Amino acid sequence: MKSLKNQKLVVATHNAGKLREINELLTPHGVTTVSAGSLGFEEPAETGTTFEGNAKLKAVYSAERSGLVALADDSGLCVEALNGEPGVYTADWAGPKRDWAMAMRLVEEKLQAIKGARAAYFSCTLCVAWPDGAARFFEGRVHGSLTWPPRGTRGFGYDPMFVPDGETETFGEMDPVKKTLMSHRGRAFEKLVNALLR
Ligand code: IMP
Repeated sequence: MKSLKNQKLVVATHNAGKLREINELLTPHGVTTVSAGSLGFEEPAETGTTFEGNAKLKAVYSAERSGLVALADDSGLCVEALNGEPGVYTADWAGPKRDWAMAMRLVEEKLQAIKGARAAYFSCTLCVAWPDGAARFFEGRVHGSLTWPPRGTRGFGYDPMFVPDGETETFGEMDPVKKTLMSHRGRAFEKLVNALLR
């Protein structure tokens, strides 16, 4: 069985917030990471229509180019009243300048226009791809509700408008260690660690 122990891993993301969280999750397990950006790799176009499809194309691209094991994350916010939108298009709603305040406002406007329920979840699919073409997937979700106006300056993306179920703070206000323990990414990583790092 393939393991990630003592491997050097390419983290196939150009998102600084994700990179920070992924490094924090992997470092305690003795995994050394290098980012795709620091190797000069451009981001492949995310042409998939599922989180799994996009995670795979990002991980496979970095594994093939580097000859190392690669890890990619594809994640997003799914709003139930908006039929799961923005979903795989979560980053696109922030426009080319990645304006997260605008993206959150867009979600809020769409919800207000339909007087929709505020339930939402973050989903994260991790793909580990080996240079020989093998791939494994791990998925995590966290359910919660959307609040307005946004609160908190920690975290990234849509964190300031997301309150996980059972909590009063948004992910933008929450201690990052606490966020990771309950987040979609933290849960997907727990599965990855159990499968590949024990
Ligand atoms: P992609 O996976 O690179 O396509 O981007 C997904 C987008 O979902 C990110 O750019 C963030 O805006 C959003 N997202 C994913 N995970 C989180 C999170 O933990 N907090 C807030 N926003 C997130």
